[in-house]
Amino acid sequence: MEPTSNYSVLIVDDERANLLLLNQILSGEYRVFTAKSGAEALSRAENESPDLILLDIMMPDMSGFDVLKQLKEDPATQDIPVIIVTGLTGTDDEEKGFSLGAVDYITKPFKEAIVKARVKTHMRILDQIRTLERLGFSDPLTKLANRRNFGRRLALEWRKAIRDRALISFLMMDLDKFKNYNDFYGHTQGDILLKRAARVLSEIASSSSDLAARLGGEEFGLLMPGVNATNALAIAEKIRLDIGTMRVPTIDGSKVITSITISIGVNTITPVKNDSPKDFISKTYECLIAAKAAGRNRVVSDLK
Ligand code: GH3
Ligand code: MG
Ligand code: MG
Repeated sequence: MEPTSNYSVLIVDDERANLLLLNQILSGEYRVFTAKSGAEALSRAENESPDLILLDIMMPDMSGFDVLKQLKEDPATQDIPVIIVTGLTGTDDEEKGFSLGAVDYITKPFKEAIVKARVKTHMRILDQIRTLERLGFSDPLTKLANRRNFGRRLALEWRKAIRDRALISFLMMDLDKFKNYNDFYGHTQGDILLKRAARVLSEIASSSSDLAARLGGEEFGLLMPGVNATNALAIAEKIRLDIGTMRVPTIDGSKVITSITISIGVNTITPVKNDSPKDFISKTYECLIAAKAAGRNRVVSDLK
């Protein structure tokens, strides 16, 4: 039977009977992984990225407390909520579990309904956290990634590119004379244009590793890991053409069709250790400024 939710649970217990029972209780609703030891739990947590972990404390070799400690020390696993499931009922142990970062505590022998309810509560909290994260990482007007999200992804892709000796291309874009556009057509019309421009960018940011972001008012960025300079330039030209030929009817019904142009700075790098993403972004920004200075509606790439 297919689980009814997309969430997954990792169950850790050295006793086979417990694993089977918990698996049976939860597998109707969640995707379930199991681990029979602390070491296995750590590797499965890292490899499967479960949404929640049910962790037994009394295990040979490595106790649940040690597993919890290590989970919390690893950036890859530290945000996964852990519910301790144990026969230890001393309040000291309960306290120790919480102080190590567990979110809840279930005592053995457990009741099916209690396990289900506790797990469900934590999945609901997880849902709420993810909604908040999504809102905090996207721009409400255009739905593109916001500046904060962009910064996070850049740091991530930068490390990855250094490790893999891979390329990163970046486009920094700014609508031309947008203040005039706003002054002439009004802010509401300006917002509509921003949304349409964002849509052009999302359509062009085709690969799943591309990230289109709204970096400021009428300033956009497109991060393209793995894309070389020639292709980045071609993509920039395509964006410039698509934005330049975009026609947006005015909302006041006067049927005037409005249009705008965009200036773009392009830069490509294969970063090595000690290269700074900040410098890379500044250089790209200089290209954008050069595009503006040269008359706008053009693409300038880092030619050094
Ligand atoms: P340039 O070609 O040099 O970029 O000129 P510009 O007029 O585009 O640049 P400037 O930075 O002087 O003006 C940007 C304008 O963008 C100012 C502001 O009215 C507008 N703007 C910024 N954010 C928003 C927004 O969320 N909605 C709307 N409608 N306008 C915005
Ligand atoms: Mg502008
Ligand atoms: Mg600007």
